[in-house]
Amino acid sequence: MSTNTNQNPKILCVVERAGAGLDDTAWELLGAARALAGEGGSVGAALLGEGVGELANELARGYDDVWVFDDARFASWDGEAYARALAPLAQREQPALILAAHTNLGIDFAPGFSVRAGVPLLPDCLSLESAGDGSAWEAVRTVYGGKVHARMTCTPSEQGAMATLRAGAFAAAEPGAEVTGRVHAEDVGDDVGQGRRPVRTVEPEASEVDITQAAVLVAVGRGIEDEENLEIVQSLAEALGGEVACSRPVVDKGWLPKSRQVGTSGLTVKPKVYLAVGISGSFQHVGGIKGSPFLVAINKDARAPIFGVADVGVVGDLFDVVPALEAKIREAKG
Ligand SMILES: Cc1cc2nc3c(=O)[nH]c(=O)nc-3n(C[C@H](O)[C@H](O)[C@H](O)COP(=O)(O)OP(=O)(O)OC[C@H]3O[C@@H](n4cnc5c(N)ncnc54)[C@H](O)[C@@H]3O)c2cc1C
Repeated sequence: MSTNTNQNPKILCVVERAGAGLDDTAWELLGAARALAGEGGSVGAALLGEGVGELANELARGYDDVWVFDDARFASWDGEAYARALAPLAQREQPALILAAHTNLGIDFAPGFSVRAGVPLLPDCLSLESAGDGSAWEAVRTVYGGKVHARMTCTPSEQGAMATLRAGAFAAAEPGAEVTGRVHAEDVGDDVGQGRRPVRTVEPEASEVDITQAAVLVAVGRGIEDEENLEIVQSLAEALGGEVACSRPVVDKGWLPKSRQVGTSGLTVKPKVYLAVGISGSFQHVGGIKGSPFLVAINKDARAPIFGVADVGVVGDLFDVVPALEAKIREAKG
């Protein structure tokens, strides 16, 4: 039975690897967990893999405890095997809350694990907080394919509760310079098994840009009219040292890949500066912009909803405004 409550809770984060390193979500989970744990709570990480000792030390620069399952059976991701390995840890450590990222791997792992561990699951959270009296957790997620933001409340079981967090929706914590946490090597039982055998790993193209990590995004919408016009937006992004993102119609038309789409059915981004060019500002698009960036909107329709959330609005034709803005930026940069 989980003995701690939402007041200064003990939180366990199941972190992911990305290639030979840690996935960025490892630090986003830490940021979210620290905010929820407060001064008196504690935040631990569970890391599974083969030859992951160095990564465990890296995690211990931010997490209070790191439990490491170093075993060849965890060389590739297997949500079922992970759930079998982690259930005894959760039972022993009794965290009030278990967090994982809502990535493909998290989606694979979390439902089975929550059943095995006997904890209710809040999936795909855009926000998460302790509810009123501290006896429940409250989260916001999107439902109906992104049409509605729903507020969910979850009462923990005696074993605690679990949530998966949307990648990019929570601010990442910075790891410290020194290893301050404790690293614990965990025994991996014979019964963990390996339910799956990877046949082939398909890596994303090396040139693929990760817009969730960009500080400056120039997002383009249907107002651009044609694929060949994208050039002016790409050129503006280059002048600003940023990346090009887009709204869904631009992806639907095949002008840019899905990996550039911002929104509830696309990616959640958290840049410092966001330029919305020829984007009306639907809630499905704006729902993917987090972290209160400085938002500049360029739209020829003064009543476009994007102006309702913009810090600076330019009412004008993007084909005039974008090249003029780029020229000014290049001039200012000398
Ligand atoms: C389940 C579901 C999920 C969705 N998920 C997403 C999502 O993840 N991301 C997303 O973006 N959308 C999503 N959508 C679609 C969303 O509802 C909107 O249709 C979409 O965001 C509109 O994209 P847009 O702003 O580029 O196009 P439009 O709404 O057509 O707006 C184009 C804008 O460009 C302006 N414009 C036109 N010409 C010019 C010009 N020359 N100069 C300046 N301005 C000009 C117009 O005034 C207009 O405001 C989703 C919809 C559904 C139903």
